[in-house]
Formats: sequence, structure tokens, C-alpha cells
Amino acid sequence: MLLLTPGPTPIPERVQKALLRPMRGHLDPEVLGVNRAIQERLLALFDPGEGALVAALAGSGSLGMEAGLAALDRGPVLILTNGAFGDRIAEMALLHGLEPTVLEFPPGEPVDPGAVAQALKARRYRLVALVHGETSTGVLNPAREIGALAKEAGALFFLDAVTTLGMLPFSMREMGADYAFTGSQKCLSAPPGLAPIAVSREARRAFTARRGWYPDLERVAEHWERGGYHHTTPVLLHYALLEALDLALEEGVEARERRAREVYAWLLEELLVRGFRPYPKASPLPTVLVVRPPEGVEADRLVKALYAEGVAVAGGIGPTRGQVLRLGLMGEGARKEAYGFFLKALDRALALA
Ligand SMILES: *Cc1c(COP(=O)(O)O)cnc(C)c1O
Repeated sequence: MLLLTPGPTPIPERVQKALLRPMRGHLDPEVLGVNRAIQERLLALFDPGEGALVAALAGSGSLGMEAGLAALDRGPVLILTNGAFGDRIAEMALLHGLEPTVLEFPPGEPVDPGAVAQALKARRYRLVALVHGETSTGVLNPAREIGALAKEAGALFFLDAVTTLGMLPFSMREMGADYAFTGSQKCLSAPPGLAPIAVSREARRAFTARRGWYPDLERVAEHWERGGYHHTTPVLLHYALLEALDLALEEGVEARERRAREVYAWLLEELLVRGFRPYPKASPLPTVLVVRPPEGVEADRLVKALYAEGVAVAGGIGPTRGQVLRLGLMGEGARKEAYGFFLKALDRALALA
């Protein structure tokens, strides 16, 4: 099965091999050394500034999302959404009693900084939350502009970096981000199960609530900064993540961005020729290509037909449910050879449709 979904992504051989290493304890000095090496690489990718906490939580990206919200001392919070993952942040903020104001933007369009500036003038917020790249619609949001507005308004800036960290230029310092997270299975092409997070020094001061034992960032710091026991970590996933982080840094984020953009441009061209139409109206996200199928072809049926041809892609979710094909160009997903195979399978599937 050729895996071309917008997460999980295929994992390189070097990462796969790391999973075969003999098991060790989660407090074994060698494993704690691997954790420190992971932290070093995460500092390079997140660039969160002095005094930040970086760690890889044992869970998927959604745990990274929830851990930040569960730690915030109080609301109100401003949630910016233009798709399924912005909506997920809003849902969590409500569950954690953070008095969310949800500012919605049309799916397929980026968040508008002008509207955000207005909302920030109307009320004082403790935190502003944004999804950098919205996977449900394939739209890249203006993180830097929103970060600057949040800072100006004296609010913390919470950034979902799941479709961008490791593939697109990223710096929490430059974007003014105080909390950012990703999932190991997206742009880093490691197995699912870890959620790398970074908490700025400023956010650490405000993240004093402890709504939940497992995601408690103080307990997380006890393990990741002082080598103490919190819970049994997935040691083999740590080995694999370290290999994946090394591969990303060896290739370099600039080269990875170029790779994603090249495959995106070529693949979109190929799809337009076949009658597909791009879903995003502006600011396309280079790591997730979202297209509407040709007239008369049903998206979800096409996803199933492709699966029968040996290719796994995703259909729509949230606002795009049943309307689109979503093609992953994160990490190892952004390979022209794989998408060459996809196009052949697509032509067979379309001939049958
Ligand atoms: C995949 C994804 C997540 C988290 O998803 P998990 O399935 O929990 O790893 C969060 N935000 C975005 C933008 C995503 O694409």
C-alpha cells in the first residue's frame, strides 16, 4: 500500500530500523541521553528562545494541542478557525473552561489579520490560538502577522505546527509563538505516538493550571528536564523520532520546503489537466494538496477506488467532508516517484468511475 495521506506519512528505512533496537527502560541513562538529543533537535526546529521547555509527549498531535490548553491558568481565549483543526482547538478550550471566543473564517481562505486586530481591540484575551497549516482545507495561515497582533495585545500565542514544523520555515521567536506542537507522524515522518511540544519561558509562567495528571507540563518537565519518573515513555518511538529529526536536519528545512513546493506545483498541474480544481482560494499550504474531483466524480468513491489500486489518500473532513481529495506532501510524502505511481492509479480509477 502506497501511503500518501496527510498523516501518517511513510517512514524512512533508518527510522524503521530504530524500532528494532533492543528494549531499554525509560529511565535508562542511554534513553535519557536520547531524550536530551531529541530536545536539542527540537530546539533547533521550534526555536522557542531561552528558558523554554521542549519535550515529546507520549500521544498524538492532539495531546500536544490539549496539553497547552490544560495548563493555561485562565481565559478568555480567542480561537481563530478556518477548518476542522481550528474547530478542535475551540472544542478543547471550551472543555477546559477557558471562555473561548471563536472567530470563524470561510474554509478555503486564510485567517484575516484585519478581523483578528479588531477582535483584539474589542476585548482583552489571555491567549490567541491559530492552526498554522489547516489540513482539512489545505490553507496556510499568516502565523507571523497573527503572532505580532497577539503580542501587541499582550496575549500569549498558541500555534498548531503539525503541517509545517520540519517542512516550512519556522521560528517561535520570530513568529512570537509561546506554545507550539506537532505530531511525530506528520512532517517529521516518524511513527505516530509522540507529540513534540515547545513552551516559551513566558508561557511557562502562565501555564500553571494542572487540569489533568498525564498532560501536566510540570510533571513532563520533571521527566524531560530532570530525568525523573512521570510515566513509562515509548522508548522505541523515542529512538525512531531521533532518527527522523536527524534526517530532517541533515536535509535541511529549506531543501524540504523546496521539495514539497516542487511536487505540489507539478502534481497540481497534472491534476488540473485531468479536470480537478484546487480547493483553497488563496494561500495554499505546500504540504497538503486539497482538490475537488472532476465534474461528475464523487470524491469518497474515488478515494475507495484509489485504495483498490494500492494507494491510500484521504477524503475531506470537517468543512470539506465528501467534497475533496487530500494528498499528503509532508516529510516522505513529498516524493515525485510516489506521486507518479499515484497518477497512474488515478487514471485507472477515473477510467472506471
Ligand atoms: C493531524 C493534525 C493534528 C493532530 O492530529 P493527531 O491525529 O492527534 O496526531 C492537529 N492539527 C493538525 C493541523 C493536524 O493536521
